[in-house]
Amino acid sequence: MLSYRHSFHAGNPADIIKHLVLANVLEYMTRKDKPLDYIDTHSGAGFFELSSSDAQKTQEYLDGIAKLWHYSGDNDAIKAFVDLVKSFNDDALAFYPGSPKVAEQFLRRQDKGWFFELHPKDSVLLTDNLAHKKSLRVRSEDGFKGLLGLVPPSSRRACVLMDPPYEIKTDYQQAAKMIIKAYKKFNSGTYMIWYPVVDRARIDLLEQTLIESGVRNVQLFELATSADTQEHGMTASGMIVINAPWTLKATMDSVLPEFVEMLSDETGFYRSEQLVAE
Ligand code: SAM
Repeated sequence: MLSYRHSFHAGNPADIIKHLVLANVLEYMTRKDKPLDYIDTHSGAGFFELSSSDAQKTQEYLDGIAKLWHYSGDNDAIKAFVDLVKSFNDDALAFYPGSPKVAEQFLRRQDKGWFFELHPKDSVLLTDNLAHKKSLRVRSEDGFKGLLGLVPPSSRRACVLMDPPYEIKTDYQQAAKMIIKAYKKFNSGTYMIWYPVVDRARIDLLEQTLIESGVRNVQLFELATSADTQEHGMTASGMIVINAPWTLKATMDSVLPEFVEMLSDETGFYRSEQLVAE
């Protein structure tokens, strides 16, 4: 069952925190000349037109990127992120990049990109959006399994984003299981897991599973646009990052309070935590 389409959600607050973390990690990891492998286990279509009927049906971007568009504060990471999205647009906000296009901005000739996407329509769109570049490979295969076949990479440097739809409840434990397996094969990689908070108990379990797994150096960054609830719907989302660049925590400590001001209601909050020490 593949009913999830990211085109309904592109540019919402969850995308903002996910893509800002991704951009910061890749900016840091591409400072060295050495080649890097980027692995996106659940890529989506890669690029979104905000005037499409899908995006207009939910208008989730109005609560996310639209609120940052005229950012006039002085936070360098927020400014850099808004500039990145602006580079895909003319004056007005019309397009929003998915994780593959964010990554493409940073990947160099010596790097490789691996993009898994199971939805037949989205994998075709993604191939087009990545302009059939040889160093960026799109695979219409299961990204959970695909990851294990790619680590350790010959470059010995890798950055992984795992961003499943979480439509099936088993995705939470599957994500943790696969990241732990990949880490055991290659423990110097940088791994990012995006998660939604729909039912807090699921995230508590995800955190506990990682804490007890033996994985080291785990950080968590979360933005809640409103308080946890028992009602249906996502109130928060976050990124769990293993082996983050040493700069990331300080960056998120400065970004997240501003995001709460700009994107959350009066019950919103953020978390920036070292879950497991180095
Ligand atoms: N990472 C994207 C971004 O930030 O722009 C969004 C990805 S979206 C949340 C999740 C995607 O995973 C969907 O496009 C869905 O079709 C795809 N998908 C679902 N199960 C998958 C699997 N086992 N392997 C690869 N892709 C899968």
